[in-house]
Amino acid sequence: MTAPDLDTSIARLRDLIEDARRIVPFTGAGISTECGIPDFRSPGGLWTKNQPIPFDAFVASREMRDEAWRRRFAMEENFAHAKPGRGHQALASLYRSGKVPGLVTQNIDNLHQASGIAADDIVELHGNTTYAVCLDCAKRFELAWVRQKFEAAGQHAPNCACGGYIKTATVSFGQAMPAAAMERAEELARACDLFLAIGSSLVVWPAAGFPLMAKRNGAALVIINREPTEFDDIADLVLHDDIGNVLGPFVSH
Ligand SMILES: [Zn+2]
Repeated sequence: MTAPDLDTSIARLRDLIEDARRIVPFTGAGISTECGIPDFRSPGGLWTKNQPIPFDAFVASREMRDEAWRRRFAMEENFAHAKPGRGHQALASLYRSGKVPGLVTQNIDNLHQASGIAADDIVELHGNTTYAVCLDCAKRFELAWVRQKFEAAGQHAPNCACGGYIKTATVSFGQAMPAAAMERAEELARACDLFLAIGSSLVVWPAAGFPLMAKRNGAALVIINREPTEFDDIADLVLHDDIGNVLGPFVSH
């Protein structure tokens, strides 16, 4: 249901949070827009200007790997300077209260970790763009190192010592979803009594499945998103408002 005004909605959300024992937040791009991270999928977003490079193309062509890294470094100003917003801080406050066994995110920006939630308690469905990995041996590389090699080689992406290609630790189009993360996200969704879908349009698979899973297992469902979603009808509370404004009152230090 949608409440008549923001204050009433926030009061209802506060009641639901107080009554809950296991809260699982699920976050999408909308929580990070106030932090300067663009929503890639939105109209006018980066993906409407630059088609994303599918995983097969990345693996098949050195030019595509170079282009992928060129684009990533062009975004570094956004990612390197981004700080957790009010939504991230509110969720970190809930986490500190002991009610959040884990958080599931579609975001790749590392801002939940930066807000103080332990990396082990964050399920990243689409990986993380703030570091890189070798696709063959899984060795971790820091972006500063990759960039230095990239520039020194005349804008060519470096390879791992094992010969494998180095890619940001994100899940690209055409790349398999991380099985362990998917499994953990499902477990969290099924075992919670309050599921908070925040800043996600809930249309992209597998995001769409989790609110349903939670609801079918008896959890209350709250949707906080600027735009309507397909699940608004089954939600216990819907807030079509600015995420920072909605969650700001839940930030505690
Ligand atoms: Zn390697």
